[in-house]
Amino acid sequence: MEYLKDLLLNIFIICSPLALYPYIYKAKNNTLLYRLCLAIPFSLAIITTMSFPISINGLIYDFRSIPLAIGSLFGGIQVSIFLYATLLLYRYFQDSPNDLLYVLSILPSFAFFVFFHKSYSSLSLSRKITVAIIYCTLIKMVTFGIYLSFTGLLELLMYKPWATVQTYVLQGFIVGVSVYVIEMQHRFFMMQEEIVRSEKMKIVGDMAASVAHEIRNPLTTLKGFIQLFATADLDKDKRILYQKVCFEELDRAESIIADYLSLAKPDPEIVEAIDIHQEMHYLANVLMTYANYNNIQIQVMTEEEQVFHIQGDRYKFRQALINIGKNAIEAMQNGGLLELKTIIRDNHAWVILSDNGSGMSTEQMKRLGTPYYSTKEKGTGLGTMVSFGIIKKMNGKITIKSELGEGTEFNLIFPKAN
Ligand code: ADP
Ligand code: MG
Repeated sequence: MEYLKDLLLNIFIICSPLALYPYIYKAKNNTLLYRLCLAIPFSLAIITTMSFPISINGLIYDFRSIPLAIGSLFGGIQVSIFLYATLLLYRYFQDSPNDLLYVLSILPSFAFFVFFHKSYSSLSLSRKITVAIIYCTLIKMVTFGIYLSFTGLLELLMYKPWATVQTYVLQGFIVGVSVYVIEMQHRFFMMQEEIVRSEKMKIVGDMAASVAHEIRNPLTTLKGFIQLFATADLDKDKRILYQKVCFEELDRAESIIADYLSLAKPDPEIVEAIDIHQEMHYLANVLMTYANYNNIQIQVMTEEEQVFHIQGDRYKFRQALINIGKNAIEAMQNGGLLELKTIIRDNHAWVILSDNGSGMSTEQMKRLGTPYYSTKEKGTGLGTMVSFGIIKKMNGKITIKSELGEGTEFNLIFPKAN
């Protein structure tokens, strides 16, 4: 019973850094932070496992090699050095004997790690698990073997062989499960990011035709004016006026292209204060081409006098709103009006996107935001899911009103940036 209690405690200690993995993953773009996020929990796990050894059939044994192996494998060389140093320092503070000898004994495992760590991340899941189990077993076996042979106690290795094998099996099992859990979480987050990215590229693709179409108009105007310049005997005033129109048309084409290109930009995920009114105008500009192409008007209503910032990643926020706005445009098959509104109230910004398109039934509304739900021939059914995910991450609330044949209204409510 005592053994089981200690064992559960140890498993809990080892699993706690795994539970932190979603936060660790978020730090992956910042190398230093990422390493710290791995080094600190795993070094704490080393310290705690060393403080609570378990006794298996009279053998005192601790699980230090598990956080040491896993932290090293996923963190790389710097994290590994930190973890090895933690282990040695803590052992020193525990007043354990033969410090120098222990350093020498553990050195081969570290050397082995230095040798193969670079190829670890490219291995398949089953290989990762196998390598982690082998590495963890080696840390224990090699360190013990060298240490005991130097202290002349090698026969201890064969003392209660069955209990020793049990500890190796148990350790291998915990390592295997831990690596599996980390990898599964890692894949899940990567897949989510991939969906966001591919949905963004879908928007870019869907809007390409309308952008090309929209740029054709200023080009046609320019062509006309160039012809005018060449043929007519223009006086100075007219020449200046035509030139002004030409520049305006060029500016327009330029801004359409710039807005469009900013859609496809890779975003580094920076959380910042976002000016809500400015974003509404950006949204209107980007959607304008697509709306024109689909014979739809856009009306923007903002309370400009109240400057208001919300917190989030600007490009993700744009992606979320463009998804919703694009759906609204696509819901208005026979033309219509898309209204973009912001209302500032009670320290919150209300972003309202309403259309007078096809609307949705209660059943359809229930399925909105669930993966792969689409009523469009070329739809992915992922746009709303991605948008909702982004909005919720920004602590936004979403309410939707919709009526079949009447239209739909999306209300997004965001708290003020602090
Ligand atoms: P997709 O646009 O690829 O179909 P979404 O997740 O963006 O995927 O949207 C899912 C479905 O929700 C759409 O196919 C459409 O039926 C419905 N929908 C979303 N927004 C609206 C809207 N404003 N009006 C009517 N239906 C909508
Ligand atoms: Mg969509």
